[in-house]
Order: sequence, then C-alpha cells, then structure tokens
Amino acid sequence: MFRSARIQLTAWYLLIIMLISILFSITVYSGINNELERFGHFQEARRQHIEQEFQGFPPPNIPTFDPQLITDARNRLIFTLVFINLGILVISGAAGYFLAGRTLRPIQVMIDEQNRFITDSSHELRTPLTVLRSEIEVNMRDKNLSVVDAKKLLGSNLEEVIKLQALSDNLIRLSRHENPHGSGLFADVSLLEIVKEAVKKITPIAKKKNIVVTNNVQDVTVHAEKQSLIELFVILLDNAIKYSPENTSIAIESSRKDRIVALSIADAGIGIEKNHLPHIFDRFYRADSSRTKQTVQGYGLGLSIAKKIVDAHKGTISVKSEVGKGTTFILQLPIH
Ligand code: ADP
Repeated sequence: MFRSARIQLTAWYLLIIMLISILFSITVYSGINNELERFGHFQEARRQHIEQEFQGFPPPNIPTFDPQLITDARNRLIFTLVFINLGILVISGAAGYFLAGRTLRPIQVMIDEQNRFITDSSHELRTPLTVLRSEIEVNMRDKNLSVVDAKKLLGSNLEEVIKLQALSDNLIRLSRHENPHGSGLFADVSLLEIVKEAVKKITPIAKKKNIVVTNNVQDVTVHAEKQSLIELFVILLDNAIKYSPENTSIAIESSRKDRIVALSIADAGIGIEKNHLPHIFDRFYRADSSRTKQTVQGYGLGLSIAKKIVDAHKGTISVKSEVGKGTTFILQLPIH
C-alpha cells in the first residue's frame, strides 16, 4: 500500500512540475520564435532592397541573408527545450519519489502503530473471552448443574467480565492520551495539590497492605492538564503499592533546578530486573516474573499511559530499580 501511494504521489508531483515546465517552455519558444520571424522578415526585406539597388548582382563584401539560419536556430531551440524538459522529468521524478517517501513515512508509522494496537488489544481480549466461553459451554453441557455450581460459574464469569471491563477502560484511557491535546485544558496548577489528590485516591489500597505514603513535594506551579497529572501519579503510586510487600513505605520527593521540577516516587518493593527496564513503558508489557504475573492484576498498560501523559507535558520519565530492594520512578516536568 505504501509503495503504490508513494508512486501515486510521485506521479502527482511530476504532473504538476511537468505542466509548469512545459507551459514555461511553450512561452519561451513562442517568444523566441516571434523574434526569429521578425528578424527573418527584416533580413528578407534588406536582401530585396540590396538586390534592387545592385540590379541582382550585389558585391561579395555585402553579406546576404540565408533563411536556413533561422530554421537551424529554431530547431536548436526546440532541441534545447526538449532536452531541458527531459532533464527536469528525470530529476523531478527522482526528487518527487524521495519526497513522497518522506511525506508518507509518518503516516505509514501511524498506520503500523494502529495495526499493532488493534492486534495487541484483540490478543488481550481473547484470553478472558476464551475463559468465559469455555466455562459457559462446559457448564451448559452438564445436565445436573446445581444452583450452587451455577452460582460458582456466575462468580467466575463475573471475574472475567470485571477483567474485560478493566481492560477496555485502560484501552480507552490509552487512546485518549494518544492525542495529547484532545483530552483537556492546560492551566497553571499546583503540583502539591495534584500529588495530594493522587495520594488521597490510592490511600484505601495502601491501607489494605499497611503501606505508608509520605508526600514531601514542594509547592511549585506547573502548566498542566490537572486530571491527566493526577492520573499519572495514581498509576505510579498504584504500581508502587501493587509491587510492594505489606508494611513497607513509599516516598514522594521533589527537587527544583532552573525551570525543571524533578519528582521521585520510591518504593521498597520487589524491584524490576535489568533486562525488563527498557521495555516497561511499552504497551502491554509486563515484566515476566512468574511471581508477579500470576498474583498481580494488570495488563501492562499503566506505564504506557503514564509515558503518554508525560510526553504531552513535555517532560521525561525514567526508572531506577534493584531487584528485592525497590523501584524509583523519576519524573521531570517543566515549570511554567
Ligand atoms: P501493569 O498493569 O502490569 O502494572 P504497567 O504498565 O503499569 O502494567 O507496568 C508494566 C510492568 O512494569 C509491570 O508489569 C511490572 O512488572 C513493572 N512495574 C511497574 N511499576 C513497578 C514497581 N513500582 N515495582 C516493580 N515493578 C513495577
């Protein structure tokens, strides 16, 4: 598809350039041709005048006019213009093909990205749907299904439906953040307020694991989309809780340098192995630790949503981690 679109675009570039070039050549040709004809008429009149004056025998030192010169000049002009147009055709064909490639490349990247997104999402949707289907099919074949078994089945179905709902919610959030300026209004907001709100949201789940969250963030103003930034901190804090054992603590610190504020969210959790670190911001990526994958719920979408939010705020996000000791996410945001 990319190739045929590129060829079509090149053809359009060529058509426009060649139309301009041919029109220009026709104008140049007719202008010069008019001049040649005027010159021819003038020379013809001069020749007749000389012949009359010397009664058909002009002396050899007076040059006579040869009409063939005009024809030769006209032919040379046509040849030169055709040659120039062929040159323009070849050069603009090559340049057009190159430019069409450059123009279409971002579109191609976007289409590939969307296709990958659809494939990944369908893949993730398939697992809970398969479980649902097989559970229902098996139980429907059972003629002696009791009310207790049916309730058990419904309970298990409900779990899968909740997972599907969480997945679709995450997919919607991710696609909302794909379009950085489509999700809300940017305004001057207090970073401290944002962190406080995020901490408030995750406090119930932190309490369940007896995890203490300390907030030492300075009050700086950032130009941000408030709800997105709250979402960002909720994702990072939620992960910190999910991947930490009970009775640990999470510290949120901030420091300011020039026009940048750096925030760190440090947990004392299970940590991330080095080989997973470069991929954790990828969509649907979950660090392949059998311990966490089976026991901790998730779809590997949180950090890719976090990255999109940080990008929309022209900031950066990085991670430092040591297995068994803990993980620290570092955010850098420009101060307004
Ligand atoms: P998930 O839904 O799996 O939590 P995320 O995109 O939020 O997806 O995170 C991707 C992976 O990064 C997780 O599966 C987990 O392995 C790892 N991870 C993220 N945050 C932490 C953390 N604070 N401590 C340990 N591992 C983490």
